[in-house]
Amino acid sequence: MKLERSIAEFARARNVIAGGVNSPVRALGSVGLSPIFMKSGAGAMLYDVDGHEYLDYLMSWGALLLGHAHPAVTRAIVNAASRGTSFGTPTESESQLAELIVSMMPSIERIRFVSSGTEATLSAVRLARGYTGRSKIVKFAGCYHGHGDSFLIAAGSGALTAGVPDSPGVTEGVAEDTIVLPFNDLVAVEEAFATNAGSIAALIVEPYPGNMGLILPRPGYLLELRELCTQHGAVLIFDEVMTGFRVARGGAQAREGVRPDLTTLGKVIGGGLPVAAFGGRAEIMAQLAPDGPVYQAGTLSGNPVAMAAGIATLGVVAADHTLYERLEALALRLTAGLKTSFERHGFPSFVNCAGGMFSIFLTRDEVGDLRGAQATDRSLFAKYFGAMLERGVYFAPSPFESNFLCAAHTPAEIDRTVAATDSALAALLATDERPLRAMHLSGGASEP
Ligand SMILES: *Cc1c(COP(=O)(O)O)cnc(C)c1O
Repeated sequence: MKLERSIAEFARARNVIAGGVNSPVRALGSVGLSPIFMKSGAGAMLYDVDGHEYLDYLMSWGALLLGHAHPAVTRAIVNAASRGTSFGTPTESESQLAELIVSMMPSIERIRFVSSGTEATLSAVRLARGYTGRSKIVKFAGCYHGHGDSFLIAAGSGALTAGVPDSPGVTEGVAEDTIVLPFNDLVAVEEAFATNAGSIAALIVEPYPGNMGLILPRPGYLLELRELCTQHGAVLIFDEVMTGFRVARGGAQAREGVRPDLTTLGKVIGGGLPVAAFGGRAEIMAQLAPDGPVYQAGTLSGNPVAMAAGIATLGVVAADHTLYERLEALALRLTAGLKTSFERHGFPSFVNCAGGMFSIFLTRDEVGDLRGAQATDRSLFAKYFGAMLERGVYFAPSPFESNFLCAAHTPAEIDRTVAATDSALAALLATDERPLRAMHLSGGASEP
């Protein structure tokens, strides 16, 4: 596969952009490849600068629910831009998008728009701290909440001890206020509340964690978190930046019947433009400036072009009553096909899907937390990813990222993906049989 132009472009980018990319996962480091530079997209397809085309299951990391260059979204963006790109004043479009979101996600009584998921989560946590007058937060190992300091805390520390910074530049003081617990383990949460009585401001969780691959909560787990937060006066924050309008019209909270105090959104609500938001109970949101004392602001927050893309996207969501059922049917068809193919070639796998997102873990055991996810065979994943690229399929470039479907994917494309997997695995076994078999037989994860 010739990727000359992408390789040249990466070298050019590295001369002027730190690491050659504006977000680290784009570098394709975890699959040992050089990034592929894209030129355009249409529906479920991506086109690179070297002339290859790919069936896209990355969908801009989940942001594109309707696919690339959806006509209604494109039209809305062009129309809005022609009227001016930013005014620094309120516009009607902000209320319009807010009304759409509030109507479909009832736990959000008041909302505020920001420009990235990172901004949304760090604003929500500041608000929770301001509202409760407490400083500690609880998060779960493997849940990603953007790159705010409080969230970049190592997963490896003991369940009840204060976290250790995951990145240089995060101070120990910040890390001490973050308690990291294993997902799906209720006892750990009960113990954290008991040990830190009266000092936990918020518990933040991806209700369906999607940043260690897609992991589902055990039945009742999220409701139990809701009850513990209520009992201990902590703010329950659902980080639905990925799952909001992705797994269901009302997000994971609608599927699970749990009402968080605050919710963070991003990705889908911007239709591919930089929009994110946080919102929830009116009483808590009233603490924000200008009504209240908790400061939060943004020069381009609620930008009219970005709002237009969001309104067009959520307008389709509001009108299309079978969208999520169709996406989930496709996800089930694909994950079942992939699982069968992996198993037919002698590789165990565990799959998860919800609405328009799915994951395949190359491991024999059920995956319910970060430790389970880390058992995935990374080396096999990297080989599979590369073999699928050659067959014109672009998956999320890491075994710890979710994949996404859009409204433009078709059953025929799903079947083509399964057939490509059969061919990729057969080719891998033919060329690389001994190391692959050895990995499989040892059953352990091997380093890339
Ligand atoms: C993507 C993501 C974020 C961060 O959003 P950015 O827009 O990349 O800052 C936060 N939380 C979750 C659950 C995400 O998936």
